[in-house]
Amino acid sequence: MQNIYPKTIALIGGGPAALMMMKHLSENHSPVSGVLIFEKNERLGVGMPYGRGGSNNEHVANVSAAELPSFAISFEDYITKHPTNEHPDYFDKGSFKPNQVIPRLLLGNYMEYLFDYYIKTLRKKNIEVVFKTNCRVIDIESTADQSYKIITENEKCFSADIIVLCTGHHWPKTYEDAVSGWYDSPYPPSKFTSPFNGPVAIRGTSLTAVDAVKTLARLNGTYEADQDGRLTYHLNPESDQFKITLFSTGGFLPALRFHSDGEAYSSSWVMSLQDIYEYKSNNAGFVDLDYVFDLNFKQPLKAKDPEFYERIKAMDMETFVEEMMKLRKELDSFDLIKAEYREAEKSIKRRESISWKETLAAFSYAMNYPAKHFSAEDMLRLRKTMMPLISVIIASLPQASYKELISLYEAGLLDLVQVDKESQVVPNANSGAVYHYTSVDNEQREEHYPMFVDAIGQQSFNLNDFPFEGLKQTELITSAYLDFRDNQKALELIKEGEAQVYQGYNNNYYLKLPGLKINDFFQALNPYGQIIDSLYIMAVPFIGGLNPDYSGLDFCDTAAERIVASLKITDISSEMSNIKNVAS
Ligand SMILES: Cc1cc2nc3c(=O)[nH]c(=O)nc-3n(C[C@H](O)[C@H](O)[C@H](O)COP(=O)(O)OP(=O)(O)OC[C@H]3O[C@@H](n4cnc5c(N)ncnc54)[C@H](O)[C@@H]3O)c2cc1C
Repeated sequence: MQNIYPKTIALIGGGPAALMMMKHLSENHSPVSGVLIFEKNERLGVGMPYGRGGSNNEHVANVSAAELPSFAISFEDYITKHPTNEHPDYFDKGSFKPNQVIPRLLLGNYMEYLFDYYIKTLRKKNIEVVFKTNCRVIDIESTADQSYKIITENEKCFSADIIVLCTGHHWPKTYEDAVSGWYDSPYPPSKFTSPFNGPVAIRGTSLTAVDAVKTLARLNGTYEADQDGRLTYHLNPESDQFKITLFSTGGFLPALRFHSDGEAYSSSWVMSLQDIYEYKSNNAGFVDLDYVFDLNFKQPLKAKDPEFYERIKAMDMETFVEEMMKLRKELDSFDLIKAEYREAEKSIKRRESISWKETLAAFSYAMNYPAKHFSAEDMLRLRKTMMPLISVIIASLPQASYKELISLYEAGLLDLVQVDKESQVVPNANSGAVYHYTSVDNEQREEHYPMFVDAIGQQSFNLNDFPFEGLKQTELITSAYLDFRDNQKALELIKEGEAQVYQGYNNNYYLKLPGLKINDFFQALNPYGQIIDSLYIMAVPFIGGLNPDYSGLDFCDTAAERIVASLKITDISSEMSNIKNVAS
């Protein structure tokens, strides 16, 4: 085993989450003497969505340069020094569009550049940085001397004192390799290589679904832009049967990007640990969702848009969501998205934000942190009521993507079908899938689509899916859960057949959530509730239960900031115990 440094932190996965770790390690007086990075692919910083594993040229991020986390080198400086002609819609004749969404592959190049920059910065500070690309970690074991053994695919082993899991997105396959025309996800988009002359079913309407639509549309036809930038889609003659149907339980299309006034996000919006603990000690050990809704949504809204605030100030969360969803439910999805496009265009032209949407996005970012201290009842409310609205609003569909969707819709080649929650997609022996669903008119339907793309987005994984057996076997991790405030509620839910409610010690009841249990610093907890202070989990599919809005570069940035802060606390506390040991 190659033992590298006395106090080494290992980043397992070298994507954007690891980049944010590198940023915060290099911006602080580093509490570690060595950084070891393992990346299964060739490139660092790029991760899944921003390289060829997640994008083609047509795929754009939902953020502009102005909304990116702050880095030592701004995107403007980077693009000015590294001009490209690969993305002419974004970067033309040496000038870029700071408020326009960035092509994902270009963003990946930028983040790769930054990763290299931070490696150099850390090295200049005499911190050893070793990176291993094309190097998949297959297991991690804890060792008797309280460090970790990292086992890689080529059977080489490494040792580190602290582990940060940054393994990111994962798209498991079910029938993709066995059933022709069945795709478990649209990634990598390079797997769609030829035109498809038939009906296509896509499950989902989020940006993942939009990714699939963009790629498939380009393989079967072309867009033509008029002087005003409106697009007309022309189907290739040999694809005359091509048509896409999106299937969704909510029946909503994603909301559009609009002009945003303030900072994209700020860790100062988040309830501090001090505030959380004070609140809990006065409120039966929980942070109340209604309090966070008031603190992070209603109060900022009051300052930004007093008129809108007056309208909603007396509403509880449920009434507010119902009110905001009313219009979405009443209008046809494509009529609504057209109206929202006009509203967003106005917002952009007048440089006026749509304040409730902007504030809702800020609430979604900020509530991740107190959410670990909600009662099970509140988490259920959040998931049932607020998350469906948040997921539509924070999608921030770029205008260019909207134009593509609308031109396909106007050409009669894109529609949306709302299905029931019990709907099923069954693989078809010949090709694709049969969609079984009950329509909004209560009719039972069975429709065959020779091509099916599952685009419901990143799903959460549980303890059983965890890839590193060593950590599982030594019980360093456990499933995420939250306690019930009221056992009676838990008993009612059990009666109703809620499978995730369990009885714990002292007759208390708890709700099992997707993913793993972590604390405020992203440290793992073991099954006995003890903090494993050298094991951090940032891998998005494994922390969704306790971080309802866990995705996004903003989230990675704040999470890494917290982890590095906690490394310093751990560092101080171990120094303190050394001092105590010396003194005794
Ligand atoms: C299609 C898509 C588009 C998105 N677009 C945006 C956007 O526009 N804006 C935004 O803010 N957020 C966006 N997101 C959210 C996204 O979660 C984050 O931006 C970001 O990718 C998360 O970074 P990550 O490092 O956690 O995960 P990933 O990007 O998945 O990176 C994980 C890295 O770990 C490596 N890895 C995994 N397992 C191992 C292993 N066992 N050994 C070694 N290496 C390993 C992978 O190869 C990868 O490089 C998007 C997400 C998706 C799926």
